[in-house]
Amino acid sequence: MSKITRRDFINGTLMAAGASMLPFGCTSEVVLDKLDPLYYPPALTGLRGSHIGSYTNAHARAWTGKSDWGPTTDLKEAYDLIVVGGGISGLSAAFFYQQEHGRDKKVLILDNHDDFGGHAKRNEHTVGDDTRLIFGGSQSLQSPHTFSETSLKLLKELGVDLDRFKTAYDFDFFKRNNLGAVTYFNKQIFGEDKVVKHPYCDYPWYVQGLQRPKLSHEEAVKQAPLSEKGKEQLLRVLKGGLHVLKLPKEELNEYISTHSYFHYLKTTLGVDDAGVLEMARNSSVDFSGAGADVLTIGEALECGVLGFDPLTLKDLIGEKEYEKNIKEHGYILDEGDQYIHHFPDGNATIARLLVKKMIPEVGEGDNAEDIILSKFNYSRLDKTSNIVRIRLNSTVVNVVHGGDPNSSSEVFVNYINDNKSYQVKGKGVVMACYNMIIPHIVSDLPNEQAAALRRLVKIPLQYTTVGLKNWRAMKEMEMGMAMSPGNMHQVVMMDFPVSMGGYHFTKSPDDPCAIQMIGCPFGETVGAPPVEQFREARYKMLGLQFKDYEKEIRAHLSGMLPKALFEFDRDVESITVNRWAHGYAYGGSALFDSDMPEMARKGRQPFGRITIANIDSVLSSYLQVAVDQAWRAVKELG
Ligand SMILES: Cc1cc2nc3c(=O)[nH]c(=O)nc-3n(C[C@H](O)[C@H](O)[C@H](O)COP(=O)(O)OP(=O)(O)OC[C@H]3O[C@@H](n4cnc5c(N)ncnc54)[C@H](O)[C@@H]3O)c2cc1C
Repeated sequence: MSKITRRDFINGTLMAAGASMLPFGCTSEVVLDKLDPLYYPPALTGLRGSHIGSYTNAHARAWTGKSDWGPTTDLKEAYDLIVVGGGISGLSAAFFYQQEHGRDKKVLILDNHDDFGGHAKRNEHTVGDDTRLIFGGSQSLQSPHTFSETSLKLLKELGVDLDRFKTAYDFDFFKRNNLGAVTYFNKQIFGEDKVVKHPYCDYPWYVQGLQRPKLSHEEAVKQAPLSEKGKEQLLRVLKGGLHVLKLPKEELNEYISTHSYFHYLKTTLGVDDAGVLEMARNSSVDFSGAGADVLTIGEALECGVLGFDPLTLKDLIGEKEYEKNIKEHGYILDEGDQYIHHFPDGNATIARLLVKKMIPEVGEGDNAEDIILSKFNYSRLDKTSNIVRIRLNSTVVNVVHGGDPNSSSEVFVNYINDNKSYQVKGKGVVMACYNMIIPHIVSDLPNEQAAALRRLVKIPLQYTTVGLKNWRAMKEMEMGMAMSPGNMHQVVMMDFPVSMGGYHFTKSPDDPCAIQMIGCPFGETVGAPPVEQFREARYKMLGLQFKDYEKEIRAHLSGMLPKALFEFDRDVESITVNRWAHGYAYGGSALFDSDMPEMARKGRQPFGRITIANIDSVLSSYLQVAVDQAWRAVKELG
């Protein structure tokens, strides 16, 4: 065990040990041309991510088995490759295919969303004359020094200079502005709206430069709005650690990989205070995507949840090993592991670079630096004259070989766009979509493979971005990040302070900025199996309307920030709720379903001229994984 990084947390393998101005559903070249130059999804606010209209047809196919889509138009378009899914994996697959087989090879990429990039989503907020960029999903390149050669080579070819982040990231920003991590206790759950300048957990420290709390554990506990019993229990948790298990070192590893964190809290530490348990459940946030109630002690430790900070590792690995680690890796992250590889729009820059490489006319900019402010012309994505075409708002509902999958040389792909059914043809198909929908689309897959793919559920997540006229209130509250146990968004944070490509991060607290609010929705029943909780949370998420989110965000920010400095109607300019009903790939849990990696392996097998990419192929939610899986899928096509 070395250091804790965000990579460890969201890696699936860890789990195992403003209203749209466009009609959705428009895409054909003619329609896009007509809409040009207004068709520009990054600037849309309101309900985004898996936006309304994007999932209707896929759900009809998967939930009700719908197969009658009315008359199908054969577009008589033939491609060398058709890619289903325009996320990082699908875009990379298209790019690799052309690299391998020639730039003249015709490729069609189909995606059900109104923008390309999948989770790598760019949000733009217009605040007065200013445009603030922020990530609507995939945030940063995590530990690029660990990337495969394939991924590193791709980044280089795209013009990404990894060293650039050493100057683009403003390491001094949080210190200069005295911004640290706090906890907001909301009135509804904790009886009063109160901010304590302490996060009580380890989550915030992946943000480089965020200031450490000045309060001791004792002082922070004293200020928490809990009963005396709750305070006493909270202190016990904070002072806990693995030594309280009183196990010999050789048994410790096995124990913490098979026992639940909540069991440890309740039984070993005797915690029963509802407030403390609420704080604990909400402290793993998007490091795990699930609540801490379903984590093992080991997983909880890796996530740095309530009571488990890196010091706890001392108990696990022994003082000597701990000191050695501190010396070698520091838990003061070594340079290669600094979480600074962040573009102003997150990993959307990589998606944009891939698109620009394949469709050069889409906009200005030749490298990661000069593409940041480049406004793409979406009407260029699907021109008849393109060698690579990207067709948005197009949900693929059927993929079938032209004959026996073992010998066929063509695959027919049906998709629905604007409620109409179309067919195109390819010599090969890469499925870079969510893997669990594949058996509904490729209906003649072998049974075992289909059953495995159906198991690959995803974790719902919500990244809401808010355009603010100023961040004076956050500055006065010394708030770089606010843990918010029990709120729909468990985290509110300033964006990563990165300036590049002519884009400047907010300078003064009186300037506009965009902040991020992170939500991991759970099921109602604490401790229920993760897959059930994800399903319940996903349905609830998709059932809410924008006004429901706005109400929640209004209550959250207004309850947390001082009234003298913050007025929601005056200071909030725009809200973009990126709902990722299908977010991270779920890697399984030692407590519930440790066979998930095996399901992913069985599921990703090639089938005739159809191969399978996407992060779901190995259940690890990282950009480099999406890229590597694309490479594998392209190689498998031959
Ligand atoms: C909120 C969030 C934060 C993240 N943060 C990070 C991070 O900081 N760093 C990191 O490395 N990774 C992060 N990730 C992981 C992210 O998933 C990967 O980085 C990567 O973007 C995944 O790419 P993908 O192409 O495999 O999948 P996706 O991005 O999901 O793309 C698949 C695409 O296929 C489409 N599709 C599905 N079904 C169909 C169909 N039937 N027809 C047509 N299209 C279809 C989907 O709608 C989607 O657009 C994050 C993910 C989320 C959700």
